[in-house]
Amino acid sequence: MVDTPTADSPAEPDITHVNPAKEATWFGHPRQLARLFTTEMWERFGYYGMRALLTLYLTQHFMFGDREATGIYGGFTALVYLTPLVGGYLADQYLGSKRAVKFGAIIMSLGYAILCFGGPTATPYATIDGQRYEVSIEKQADKEVRYVVDGSKKLEIKGNDDGSVDLLNAGAVERKVEKGKFESNADRSPLYVMVLLIALSMVSVGNGFFKPNISTMVGELYEQGDRRRDSGFTIFYMGINTGSLFSQILCPWLAVAYGWSWGFGLAAIGMMISWALIQFNGGKLNGYGEPPAGPKVNSQQWIIYAAALCVVPLFYLLYVNLMHSAAPAEGSGFLGYVASLPLMGKLLFGSFLLGVPAILIWSFVAGSRTEFQMMLAAMVLIVFNVVFWTLFEQAGSSLTLFADRNTDLSVFGLFTITAGQTQFFNAAFIVLLAPFMSIMWGALAKRGLEPSIPVKFGIALIGVAAGFLLLVWGAAYADAGFKVSIWWLAGLYFIHSAAELCISPVGLSMITKLSIARIVGLMMGVWFLSISVAQYVAGVIAQFASVDTVGGQVTNLKVSLDVYVKVFTTISIAAIILGVLLLLLSWPLKYWMHGVK
Ligand code: GLN
Repeated sequence: MVDTPTADSPAEPDITHVNPAKEATWFGHPRQLARLFTTEMWERFGYYGMRALLTLYLTQHFMFGDREATGIYGGFTALVYLTPLVGGYLADQYLGSKRAVKFGAIIMSLGYAILCFGGPTATPYATIDGQRYEVSIEKQADKEVRYVVDGSKKLEIKGNDDGSVDLLNAGAVERKVEKGKFESNADRSPLYVMVLLIALSMVSVGNGFFKPNISTMVGELYEQGDRRRDSGFTIFYMGINTGSLFSQILCPWLAVAYGWSWGFGLAAIGMMISWALIQFNGGKLNGYGEPPAGPKVNSQQWIIYAAALCVVPLFYLLYVNLMHSAAPAEGSGFLGYVASLPLMGKLLFGSFLLGVPAILIWSFVAGSRTEFQMMLAAMVLIVFNVVFWTLFEQAGSSLTLFADRNTDLSVFGLFTITAGQTQFFNAAFIVLLAPFMSIMWGALAKRGLEPSIPVKFGIALIGVAAGFLLLVWGAAYADAGFKVSIWWLAGLYFIHSAAELCISPVGLSMITKLSIARIVGLMMGVWFLSISVAQYVAGVIAQFASVDTVGGQVTNLKVSLDVYVKVFTTISIAAIILGVLLLLLSWPLKYWMHGVK
């Protein structure tokens, strides 16, 4: 029997926006969330699987020195977060999110597949006092030893604590090379370096189409004011990390056991599954992520795809420029530093440092006093967001190299994991902590104790610093071989993950609430730009943590441990100071936010 409202029994209030009864649900959410969850899960499977390998691929297969490898890595991840600015806009105006996601998925999986073609491993050589020597690598028991080949003699390379290098013949020092006189590099095929950079360019272009638009589709599932929106995004965030959790175990394992191409190949397969899930969605996503109506859309989509492909060679040139930029001369000061920045750095810093004040000036002139204050609060938080991700994103570069060089990777003496696999800690902790943190925020909110957004940002900054300081503490307990137990690194990732949950899931929704409505898309772009700038700066910081290597292996583990400890301590102190500053600023910020939570 169907109840019809009568004058005596008034109609139930309309709660369809809270729980639309006619639709089947998935954990109480629109069932389309399940499809978007798995699509994003497989996309992140590909991205993080590749990311876990990339720095090691650059240092061990291409045998780039640390400075070059971390520079390329930072530039690549910066572009990965820069392209969503344009990809989001193109989807809104022309393509619709669904088409953009499909196109992005194809380009990204092609990028991962192309990464499989790395050519032969680079051939290392050393230059001593201007003379070139071949370097041979030999496997001995559980380690690899590097030798300088001098005529018929093979001299073992041993870096000393003071930066000089000893060349050993049957254990005895045959030749001592002063600090700075021993340089190492490798011969690598220019063709395969080009292939590598094109693949990376494709991944960053593809991500621009995929990443912002899959999130937009999640947002579309909920009506304005639907209380399930935040928890929907939390579930989605779990999807992100479930995907990356598995690939960060599997891809590095495949890479070590069978070769790099197997690792990248699996990332490409994951990405293709993501594409298939959205391409063949069986009509589940009809009505979501559709292009804006209008006759121009169909003809224009091919122009957009073609233009996107033209960006690939453009990015390639940015990488070439990045790789050829020299370190600034010592004592050249801030201006000298800016002048020495590669084109990519100038572009990123330029747009951020000019864009942020320009938008603020505009909001001062065009907006009301309240609107201006809300925009000011958003911008302050965006600037601090750069600091957070700069430290956090050491994960894929300096922390992966730390895991490779100065970490004892044995787990309870039962088995050993690979350096790339240490990346899985972050994802695993997010999956474990996300539900707990969301219950905790809820419980605190009920008592009126939930920290404000600026306080959460401040906690996150201090947290990310605390994670590094924990590792620095652990470094004091390094073994005789200067290796630190893996549990210190796991502890760092535990704290970093909790910190991430204070900042990352709240960031996007906060921007939408604080922004002047007319420019919300632009502000979202500035948010992504801030993460992009952070990735670039993270690369620069990782460059400061560069150590001398021969054929991808450090010459002295004590020196590398000291360098990591020094850099990690310095960035932690900076982040703590900025975190405390933000906590102090949280009072005016809360006022400027005018009730936005
Ligand atoms: N781990 C999250 C993701 O990949 C957030 C990363 C970020 O915003 N920097 O989506």
